[in-house]
Amino acid sequence: MLRRVRRLADKIIRDSFPLLQGTRICFIVAPFRFYALSLWIPHIIRLVIISTRVRQMTDFVITGIIAHELCHQERYLTMGTTRYLRFAVGYLFSDKARTEEERATDFLTIEKGYARELHELTLISRADAHHKTIIGNYLTPEEIIGHALKSGKWN
Ligand SMILES: [Zn+2]
Repeated sequence: MLRRVRRLADKIIRDSFPLLQGTRICFIVAPFRFYALSLWIPHIIRLVIISTRVRQMTDFVITGIIAHELCHQERYLTMGTTRYLRFAVGYLFSDKARTEEERATDFLTIEKGYARELHELTLISRADAHHKTIIGNYLTPEEIIGHALKSGKWN
């Protein structure tokens, strides 16, 4: 599973994330309630944790998950340390900050060209009881299509 994730991530970074090409991002596969999580501990590690729960999903959907997580990583990178630390506190304690970050990350995922993958992933996560509490933080399938069409990314 880790090999599969790494292989997909390498391709996505090569195709769509020039800013991340020089950085080291560690991928971990672990049993975990949500599909994935991104973390940056400044000066120490950039981490993407992927849940063992996604094992039965297709490469297409896992590509959507990884692209979304790499969009978080690119956003963290461009924030820089000070802004990121302020952001991280907000993310932990404020529902509004979480929603803002997740929606901005979904928008960036579409801009990067992964609207179809994100759309299919969103249909799956909306049907998943484990995601009920957080699903409101993300774009809806209709919003994904709308935004992708508007920006010419629904190919
Ligand atoms: Zn996210």
